[in-house]
Amino acid sequence: MGPLGLGVTFVTLPLVIRAAAGGQWCYDSQDPKCGPSHWKELKATCGGDKQSPVNIDRRWLQRDGGLGDIIFEGYDQAPPGKWRLLNDGHTVMLSLESEPGAEHIAISGGGLPGRYRALQLHFHWGSPSRNGSEHTVDGQQLPMELHIVHINVKYRTLGEAKGHPSGLAVLGCFFQVSEAANSNYNTIIGGLRNISHAGQAVDLASTFRLGTLLPHIAQLSRYYRYQGSLTTPDCSEAVIWTVFEEPVGISREQLQAFVSTVHFPASGAAPLKMTNNFRPPQPLRSRKVFSSRDATASCGCPRCPFAPLLLLPLLGPFSSSP
Ligand SMILES: [Zn+2]
Repeated sequence: MGPLGLGVTFVTLPLVIRAAAGGQWCYDSQDPKCGPSHWKELKATCGGDKQSPVNIDRRWLQRDGGLGDIIFEGYDQAPPGKWRLLNDGHTVMLSLESEPGAEHIAISGGGLPGRYRALQLHFHWGSPSRNGSEHTVDGQQLPMELHIVHINVKYRTLGEAKGHPSGLAVLGCFFQVSEAANSNYNTIIGGLRNISHAGQAVDLASTFRLGTLLPHIAQLSRYYRYQGSLTTPDCSEAVIWTVFEEPVGISREQLQAFVSTVHFPASGAAPLKMTNNFRPPQPLRSRKVFSSRDATASCGCPRCPFAPLLLLPLLGPFSSSP
């Protein structure tokens, strides 16, 4: 800190961050007048039938044997080049796009209809007094949620992909509070103080293996799948959602860094801390949430008389259908 109490900002992008007023969307914590309940006034899609996030009710999951292992490409090596961390006024976003010609970070398999290239990742969190995940499990919110946004390689632009139900694939990871800090998040968390204000961006000191941000590799075949939307306006219903069952551990101090370091765009005198930047669960309507082949949850666990993983091999030989 210098004598003026200013941190060093490495790069400030010429981004136009508009204040909460004037037809812009926001979260209730910033201004209830432009919060999630008003988004459909700005964009009708936000009131659609296939909106995200949703509550994942484990009593009503439908297991889909076709939801096997996801193939992760480029998740196990730090790519060359730079990754830019940005406070876009709504979240903290890490841009993952590589230079043309570079190897792509991508996912396929796991029931996805094609190959999807990683574009960016970002987070949704709560406040010192409440959790802030977007998806909920059996009605329970978790402390924080990571979204890694991928575009179907058959589309060239985000705009084009948004026009198709399978245009985008987003991986969602829950966080839970752990005793020990998760050092895999040090680079991102270390960058937060450089993007305290909306519109600020910083090039991270180094790239890293993206897979280190995910749950343990042995748990990645356990996930939930459903058809939904972007969770921010324009709420395009173009997302195949994959939400991992196993949360990622992060310490209370690390969680606190998100809650207390970054700010919403300043509309009044003092900038407001960026908190509770999540959209609440949307109606499932006629949709189903599927559980992957290896997912442990297939019914409400406290009420479930048998562990489903033990039961399945026993039923297997008798339940074959033509
Ligand atoms: Zn998100």
